[in-house]
Amino acid sequence: MTTYHALNEQEATEIARGIEGFFPAGAPLACREIGDGNLNLVFHITDSASGKSLIMKQALPYAKVVGESWPLSLDRARIESEKLILEGTMAPGLVPVVYKYDPELSLTVMEDLSDHVIMRQGLINGTRYPLFADHISTFMANTLFYTSDLGMNQQDKKLQVKNFINPDLCKITEDLIFDDPYTVSANNNVPPAIEDAAEALRNDTQLHLEVAILRDKFLTNAQALLHGDLHTGSIFATPASTKVIDPEFAYFGPMGFDVGAVFANLILNYAGQQYWISDDAARKDFRRYLLDTIEDVWNQFDRKFRVLWNEYGIDRLANATPAYQDFYMKRLLQDTIGFTGCKIIRRIVGLAHVADIDKIPNDDIREHAQRGALTIGTELIRRHRNAQSIQELIDITETAM
Ligand code: ADP
Ligand code: MG
Ligand code: MG
Ligand code: MG
Repeated sequence: MTTYHALNEQEATEIARGIEGFFPAGAPLACREIGDGNLNLVFHITDSASGKSLIMKQALPYAKVVGESWPLSLDRARIESEKLILEGTMAPGLVPVVYKYDPELSLTVMEDLSDHVIMRQGLINGTRYPLFADHISTFMANTLFYTSDLGMNQQDKKLQVKNFINPDLCKITEDLIFDDPYTVSANNNVPPAIEDAAEALRNDTQLHLEVAILRDKFLTNAQALLHGDLHTGSIFATPASTKVIDPEFAYFGPMGFDVGAVFANLILNYAGQQYWISDDAARKDFRRYLLDTIEDVWNQFDRKFRVLWNEYGIDRLANATPAYQDFYMKRLLQDTIGFTGCKIIRRIVGLAHVADIDKIPNDDIREHAQRGALTIGTELIRRHRNAQSIQELIDITETAM
């Protein structure tokens, strides 16, 4: 038994060597820490002779971005590994295989996906992912349905809610997404050029009402086991394959929060394309592709979720009441649109931004993208409770930029 401490590359290599039956005995292993996140170490361990490789992710007891003053429970490593394993059974092929979890070291050993590209970077490069809508809609329909009161034993679900209590990581979301952007906070990161727009957000009491309603859902609605951080930086992709990683924020929350995370990050890329594709026709074409993808994800998600409900629904009253299914899916769409807006706004004025926009080197174009994204985000939040179709989200986006 090893007591917890942050590993160095050499220690990580020795642990990898000890994983039975993985690397050939005596293989000359190479190890590199490749983590780009704020909360964890990620070791990439390879044996060039056999071509075998793996990833070891270790949770740190504090947020790197803020330093040791922001402690974070190591229990999230257990949550991440258990959620990854569950996702692997509910959505086979759409997550990395977990080889091992070490509770003492808060360490998950998993399949190396280095032959994939982080989707955020792929989209910045203008790559299209023709199977993404099919894959991510399956991932969300399956993981959300089968962990909801529609798809699993309702007494077992309560035990699972308890197993996935994740207060530290939920607090990050509650503060950074559902509070800080709407007030003066040391956790904000407001680009000076758009201070006027940030001030407008702080003074918009009508908007605050809508955010408070969405915040309450995040705090109280244990609808299904969420991924909790489903942005395009948590998705590895190739044109033929999609793999979702990094579920350390998993907890039982409102389904629309996961769907909205996907949509928000596609829209942030849409805004950033103002710079990444300079040719007008080509940019228009790629933006059309992004919006078509959103529409396709929603429509496939809606269809797949209803099919699961109709075939495997366990709730007698819900199953026997077709109008309830329509009500449920419309409310889920409305939640999705509201959460999409919240997730866009926090990436512009909140603590953590996205490369799609922040890496734009031209000040004017970056500011234009930031203002466009804020307009889209606020409109989505404002109108979410009355939305009737995904087309409204698409219209709001196209009207703004
Ligand atoms: P964090 O929670 O710190 O954001 P992630 O799980 O997102 O950690 O991983 C951070 C980075 O490490 C990813 O962006 C990716 O570059 C790399 N990485 C993580 N998991 C894998 C994997 N299974 N295969 C290859 N690279 C990975
Ligand atoms: Mg990361
Ligand atoms: Mg990550
Ligand atoms: Mg993470």
